[in-house]
Amino acid sequence: MKALVTGGAGFIGSHLCDYLVANGHEVTVLDDLSTGSMANLHQLDGAIRFVHGSILDQDRVEECVRGQDTVFHLAAAVGVHTIVDRPLESLRTNLTGTENVVEAAVRHGARFTVASTSEVYGKNDSPGLREDADRVLGSPLKSRWSYAAAKGLDELLAYVHGQKSGLPCVILRFFNVVGPRQTGRYGMVVPRFVAQALEDAPITVYGDGTQRRCFGSVFDVVPAIVALLDTPTAHHRAVNLGGVEEVSIKGLADRVRELANSRSEVSFVPYTEAYGPGYEDMQRRMPDISLATELIGYQPEYDLDRIIT
Ligand code: NAD
Repeated sequence: MKALVTGGAGFIGSHLCDYLVANGHEVTVLDDLSTGSMANLHQLDGAIRFVHGSILDQDRVEECVRGQDTVFHLAAAVGVHTIVDRPLESLRTNLTGTENVVEAAVRHGARFTVASTSEVYGKNDSPGLREDADRVLGSPLKSRWSYAAAKGLDELLAYVHGQKSGLPCVILRFFNVVGPRQTGRYGMVVPRFVAQALEDAPITVYGDGTQRRCFGSVFDVVPAIVALLDTPTAHHRAVNLGGVEEVSIKGLADRVRELANSRSEVSFVPYTEAYGPGYEDMQRRMPDISLATELIGYQPEYDLDRIIT
């Protein structure tokens, strides 16, 4: 295939490029290097075409999509810090940018995937609906959830365009994907803990550490992205991708410390200190991956220890 990977210099995108090139495909990357890095692609020097530009630049998007048969749209403003610190810029990237990419894919008859997120499930553990509920999409008081709102609208945009054009498209709901090249700079917990443990610095757990998460390996997720787009029964659907082994964040910190043979202490930081007033995280987030299993036989092979090391 001739494929465009937006956000290809990022964490998941660069692994997807590795996979596509290894399988004989012709790859173009469009990335503005805001959170991604050329270092993530150095192993592909000469093997891919790299275009430095933004998905907000319609002409650039048009130039990159023309001639492709497949578009993997992964570029987005990501990371809790980015989204909380720059909510408007993040919204523009995640709404207008996606619209630009999806519309260009449809114009050129390319099949496409859109990266979404477990955040679209919201933080819905409260009974009854109040005006300040976390599920109010894009509530200005909860800027983290504006990311969820934008991704939710991206899903709708992809779905409607896919239906209308008849082009194959898949919506990928990623749950805490982890692996080499992921940076801890924008709030991702595993690389942050690993870096702290390797420096024997305090491992900073936000909240009380009882919140539970599942981590999935990028090496399990990337082949699934391609397989889903190749599977007609997956088209025009949203599919969860991630790991299913649950661990508390305190448990994760302890495991990272053990595996790194580190002298780090675990220290607890209130959410409000880490993210500002009013911030709280959800207690639990675990995907049901049975749809991906049914569609493509998806079964994560990497357990937590293998993901951390
Ligand atoms: P990443 O930050 O490593 O990758 C995002 C890439 O997009 C970066 O290379 C960045 O430079 C690029 N980018 C940002 N704004 C851009 C713009 N305006 N124009 C062009 N490029 C731009 O993050 P990632 O973890 O690899 O995430 C990839 C996708 O998966 C994102 O859409 C993200 O929302 C989604 N996602 C990831 C996870 C996860 O656990 N990693 C979870 C849920 C959803």
